[in-house]
Order: sequence, then structure tokens, then C-alpha cells
Amino acid sequence: MYEQNVNNINFDVEQLETASGQSLYYIAWSIFRQHGFFEQFNIPEPIFLRWLKKVQHGYRGTNPYHNAVHASDVTHSMHFFVTRARIWSVLTPEEKLASIIAPIIHDYMHPGVNNAFLITTRDALTMRYNDLSVLENFHCASVLEFTQEEQYNLFVNMTVDQRKLVREMVISMVLATDMAAHFEWIGKFKNKMSGSGFNFENKADRKIMLNMAIKCADVNNPTKPLEQSKRWTELIMEEFFRQGDIERSRGIPISMFMNRETTDIPKCQIGFIDFIAQPLFDAWYSFMQEDIQILMDNIKGNKNYWKNKSEKVSFGPIKPTPSSTESLSNTAKASALAIPPGSNIQTSVSTQQITNTKSSDSLAR
Ligand code: AMP
Ligand code: ZN
Repeated sequence: MYEQNVNNINFDVEQLETASGQSLYYIAWSIFRQHGFFEQFNIPEPIFLRWLKKVQHGYRGTNPYHNAVHASDVTHSMHFFVTRARIWSVLTPEEKLASIIAPIIHDYMHPGVNNAFLITTRDALTMRYNDLSVLENFHCASVLEFTQEEQYNLFVNMTVDQRKLVREMVISMVLATDMAAHFEWIGKFKNKMSGSGFNFENKADRKIMLNMAIKCADVNNPTKPLEQSKRWTELIMEEFFRQGDIERSRGIPISMFMNRETTDIPKCQIGFIDFIAQPLFDAWYSFMQEDIQILMDNIKGNKNYWKNKSEKVSFGPIKPTPSSTESLSNTAKASALAIPPGSNIQTSVSTQQITNTKSSDSLAR
């Protein structure tokens, strides 16, 4: 039954998770079958299923948000985006395959804390990756490394060129999920849309489009129907608060929006929508048009929900806490994106915490 629903944009992956306990496994398998990837690339199905189980188990069930259900969700959204005719018709077979592998693996072994935290605490992963897209490099390299092993090698029957192409695209998409480059990607995409336009004969242009697609799939929670959107918000805020708890206990400054005692969730969500999600989806809409109209309507509705909540709180009898003034002043905007300290981001707004949440392996186990 879920097999037909996987193609529906409103499909609720959490329901499948509740029913099966392994939504990533079922969604990914179903998509692979649907597009004939097994036959097309001569992928031995048992190897793929072993690989998929290993990826799924690598996601930490103890993370409220960055667990295998988030990976299912991003895979489901990405599949919806890329299978719209305007995209699917211009992709090569290798890019189609890569566009599904990338979301499946994009947060593999996420530790539940973000890049900024890893850098501040000088986590071992920051040494390995020189502070650059630490988590994204970690997620991608870890999976691609074990994929070389015979028992997990789904690329076993592909040509050298096919492997190279799939690998290149997967790496590009997973690294694009680093929010530190959020505005840069929006800028690149908008330049294409307003300048000479996309030329889908060019691999570079197809790459920009796919990177934008995975970014939208990754921060899709304000585009969900209200009840689903609230649930994802609850989960991500709890994960932020757990990072804040660790920061408090270690005596390091608590990151913005991560202090469970003071954070104003409606204001945080309004900021996230205004400065991160809306500009991203506005740019995406200029390309996707009616294919994503429903998502644009949902963002509007969800923002109104948080605005109403925020107004009720402000006019109620409760004295505003210091963080209810955590509205997005410029400094707040700058820290709302979970961007590591010292990053050189050229953007009108940079949001550190809002987009912050990847971390190392030595933590949170
Ligand atoms: P990823 O860590 O790959 O899932 O990247 C997406 C990032 O966007 C997350 O780490 C969060 O920092 C941020 N994000 C996504 N949804 C929300 C939300 N509803 N509120 C605040 N931040 C969010
Ligand atoms: Zn993610």
C-alpha cells in the first residue's frame, strides 16, 4: 500500500515508521524497484538490501530529529522533486540513481550536534575534515567507504565511468546540505534563473538543480501540512535543546535557540521560515512552479500558525523571557544558521542555529 503512496507529496513517513519500524528501508527499496535501478545498473538486490540495512542502522535512533526517519522523509521529498517531468526528463540514468542515494545517506551517523559545536569542542572529526563541512563530509565518506566492501558494493557491476558519475553527484548533493553555504546555493540558483538560464545539456547546471532539490528536501518541514510540520519542529527543537544541555554542562556558551529554558519556539520558527525556508522555496518555486504550489501554501499557513502563537504569548500574562527577544536581530540572524564561527559567508542573513545540527562521532553515542 505504501508503494503507491510514496509518490504522493503528502505521504507521512512517520506513519510508515510507526507501522514498520524501518521506513527508510521500505521507501528506498520501493523507489529502487519503481525505477528499475536493479536491472538498469545490474545491482544485485541482496547486496543493495544489505547496504540499505547498514545505512539505516547507522542512523541513531536516540536522536530526536537526525535519525533514519528524517532520512526517509528527505528521500521521499527528493524523489517527489526529481520525478517531476521538468527534472526527470533532463537527468542521465546515473544522476537519477545518485539523486536517490544522496538523500538516503545524507545524515548517516549524525551525532545530534552541529558543525559549530564540533568545532568549538575540537572534536576529532574537525581534525579529519579541517573544519570544512565536517558532518557532511563525514556522512558521505563513511557510507562511500563501506560501499567499497564486497558485501555492500551496490556499484559492483557498473562501469568505471558510471561509478565516477554517480559518486561525483552523490558527493556534491550531500555536501550541498551544509547550511553554511545556504545563501550561496540560493544565489547560484537565482543567477541561473535570471541570467542566461539553465542549460540542462551541461552537467554543471544539472548539478546546481539537484543540489537545490536536496536542500529543499532537507529543510522541508515548514512545507508540510500543519500537524506534520509541528511534529518535525518539536523533534528538531528537542535535539537543539539537548545540544544546549551539553553546552551548559560543559560551561560553554549555549547556542542560540538551544536553551530549553529561554527559547521562544514560535519566534524561532518564524525566523527559520523568514530567513531560511521561504527564500529557498521562493527560488525553487520560480523553477518548479505549480509542481510545488501546495508546499508554498503550506509554508504560508504554517507561518501564520506560529505568528498567532507568538502573538498570543506576547499578549498573555506571562512576562517575556530574555529569549522571547531572541527575535532575529542581525546578530541573531548571523548565528541562527549553525554556521561555524569564523566562516566567511556572503549573505544578507546568516543563520547559525537555525541551520545548525550536525556533529561528530565521538559525541552523543
Ligand atoms: P540537516 O542537518 O542536513 O538536516 O540540515 C538542515 C538543518 O536545517 C538542520 O540541521 C537544522 O539546523 C535546520 N532546520 C531544519 N528544520 C528546522 C526548523 N523547523 N527549525 C529550525 N531549524 C531547522
Ligand atoms: Zn538532513
